[in-house]
Amino acid sequence: MKGQMMNDNVLLKVEHVTKTYGQGDRKFMAVKDINLTIREGEYVALLGPSGSGKSTLLRMINGLISPTEGTVYYRGKPVQGINPNSTMVFQSFALFPWLSVLDNVALALEARGDMSPERFARAERLIDLVGLDGFENAFPRELSGGMRQKVGFARALAVEPELLCLDEPFSALDVLSAESLRGELMELWTGGSLPTKAILMVSHNIEEAVSMADRVLVLGKDPGHIVAEIVIDLPHPRNRKDGSFEALMDRIYSTIAGYTEPEASEVGTAPGTPGRTRVLPRSSVGAMAGLLEHISHFKSPYDIYKLEDELGVETADLVQTIEMAEILGFATVKSGDIQITPLGMAFAEASILTRKELFAQRARRLPMIQWMIQMLKASPNEQLPWKVFYTALQPEFPDETIERQLDVAIDWGRYGELLDYDDGDELVSLDASNRKEAAVSAS
Ligand code: ADP
Ligand code: MG
Repeated sequence: MKGQMMNDNVLLKVEHVTKTYGQGDRKFMAVKDINLTIREGEYVALLGPSGSGKSTLLRMINGLISPTEGTVYYRGKPVQGINPNSTMVFQSFALFPWLSVLDNVALALEARGDMSPERFARAERLIDLVGLDGFENAFPRELSGGMRQKVGFARALAVEPELLCLDEPFSALDVLSAESLRGELMELWTGGSLPTKAILMVSHNIEEAVSMADRVLVLGKDPGHIVAEIVIDLPHPRNRKDGSFEALMDRIYSTIAGYTEPEASEVGTAPGTPGRTRVLPRSSVGAMAGLLEHISHFKSPYDIYKLEDELGVETADLVQTIEMAEILGFATVKSGDIQITPLGMAFAEASILTRKELFAQRARRLPMIQWMIQMLKASPNEQLPWKVFYTALQPEFPDETIERQLDVAIDWGRYGELLDYDDGDELVSLDASNRKEAAVSAS
């Protein structure tokens, strides 16, 4: 929190905002009924998987696109057209390659009508501010990614925005540049040398959000909506090794994981039977094996949030992979920690063949895969068109989920040598080894 400004200085208010892209049957709802408020002095992070509408939300806040329903208010007035009080910094900034650093920044001043001779001096001050002193005459191609991003920041700051919106500003940078740029931004922000009154930052990295923001809004997808709000009440500079820092990371992690699958320990019921059919997590055997191998080297339980960086994966994907390990019985999860089971340990250490067997034993117990095997066993030649499964699942899931569900089931089934699929004729069949077994047990 930036000093004294805790009173009711509301800068931004997003009220019941929904955005639908496209028209007719191409309509797609990107975000639904979003409500949020940002006050002066706040640093707020939006954290969510890709596709949860984070960029869409920023574009509406900046007036680059308008909401389909609801209203964005800036200082109490509805935003119509470009919001002159806010700017965006994108993942990678498009600098003009033929202009020097100085001219690139001065251009932002010119764009808002400042043609005064002093504009170059102002541009220089901004270049100093972001730590590029001495590089005024360099050209973008002579700069590292981190330095180019700094020029982007300088350009955004040139318009002296009250609200600075950052759309994953560090995610295109290597780990070290990202870290140092984060540090510099925090220094500018907490030191009060920015004209900016509030910052709204999109991130998909929990640690980044917890280390920088005062408040984290967690978004879910399909369509994008706010799942939870978590206040980060820690002083700056923050220390990742602090117990309170780790506890907050764990809390956000369990919020995300808990939202993704409320009944994480249940396998659900087969399609077409009473009860809820469990959606198979969208992950692969390779990803799960990587996860299990990794955590098998450490003491269990293990902090989940560490895995994101250690495995180099996005939160959303990690959540799916962990869930896969969980429903197969290779790991258990409790309040932000993962514990590998003895079976998971065996899998991590096993040869390729044993892995396949362990996997198949567990996968064939999943209602979705069990149901597919039974359908196939009951069919002539033990094969069925993909479309048959698709149609059968329509009462259970939305269309786009079905395709992904079948892809996952076939992918896992193939690995466990339970199912097979022919792309050409779009036929799902029992795997040859699974058939033999069926023949033996029938005789
Ligand atoms: P995020 O930034 O969280 O990854 P986006 O706001 O970019 O999410 O996108 C949210 C959803 O809206 C995605 O499914 C994306 O494909 C869709 N989307 C984004 N922009 C457009 C557009 N201009 N037209 C149609 N769909 C879009
Ligand atoms: Mg985005």
